[in-house]
Amino acid sequence: MYHMKSSRLENNAFAPWWFLRNLLPEFMSNIATPAPAAAERRESFVLVIHGGAGVIPREQMPPQKEGEYRAALKAALQAGYDLLKTNGTSLDAVSAAIRMMEDSPLFNAGHGAVLNSEGEVELDAAIMDGATRKAGAIAAVKHIKNPIDLARLVMDRSPHVMLVADGAEAFAAEQGLAKVARQYFITEHRQKQLERIQREQSSGSKPQSIWQQERVTDSFGTVGAVALDRQGNLAAGTSTGGIANKKPGRVGDSALIGAGTYADNATCAVSATGHGAYIVRAVVAHDISALVEYRGLSPGEAAELVVKMKLVEFGGEGGVIGADRKGNIAMQFNSQGMYRGFVREDGKHFVAIYAGQ
Ligand code: ASP
Repeated sequence: MYHMKSSRLENNAFAPWWFLRNLLPEFMSNIATPAPAAAERRESFVLVIHGGAGVIPREQMPPQKEGEYRAALKAALQAGYDLLKTNGTSLDAVSAAIRMMEDSPLFNAGHGAVLNSEGEVELDAAIMDGATRKAGAIAAVKHIKNPIDLARLVMDRSPHVMLVADGAEAFAAEQGLAKVARQYFITEHRQKQLERIQREQSSGSKPQSIWQQERVTDSFGTVGAVALDRQGNLAAGTSTGGIANKKPGRVGDSALIGAGTYADNATCAVSATGHGAYIVRAVVAHDISALVEYRGLSPGEAAELVVKMKLVEFGGEGGVIGADRKGNIAMQFNSQGMYRGFVREDGKHFVAIYAGQ
């Protein structure tokens, strides 16, 4: 060891030019893991979606409501499926599925998103292209009907990865994206939810710290999608109102690349939901990708490890969806349930809410 070190020194091993000429090409060829050949693929395309990890407890779920959730998940799957079947891109399919859920009052994204402590909606979203590893994200916007579309515009038409608040809204206007009045997002259900949370907190019956607040609010419902298209490209997207009663300006994991959203053709595409603070601190989406890359795990195995070990270790609850270039999928959660579903080329929708169904 000592001998190697000294002889490298003699050869000027640490001169920058030596590193660039001799080691960098080797290093680069090692990290640029080639994507699996098309022949290895088992599925021509696949779309996986989630509508949040915090579900209404089974015993409190009215059958009609459950039917509405299942129908909304199927509609989102169908929107993405129609594109993938006709050679649409994974990015377009992810956007289409998420747009459907943003427009539905059932989920915590777009119309029907949770309210912050001032009774306002502030929306976060991100999208990532597995082929190029380009990404776009927006946070704390108040007038954008479909935040996933603005995240896509940031990726496609700006030199940046993330724009927030007024700057994001100005960029939306520049790009001709239609704005809506704040009232468009607010539903009676969310107003009642905020009143209840604030009443409970002021009566002292609920913990007050910000970490604890994130744990007690029953307000998940973030939406996300990951897709593999016929060209073999992966994409991931996530859109959310965050957590109910959050402080204005709070940004969670969904809009953070590597935390709530990540895609890389060489590994997998991931979208997360659950306690944002823990998902950020555990860098969940990238952790799953890294396990696939460095340990050769399938997305399902990697997701299981990260959700059940890391999230639990941090005391968080949540779930993830994932897909790789072979069409393997992941839908793991440690919460009571997760609104979720997937569709493959055969067009059969799988939709589930609780563990096992
Ligand atoms: N993870 C989201 C956030 O913390 C919430 C959710 O998944 O519903 O912003």
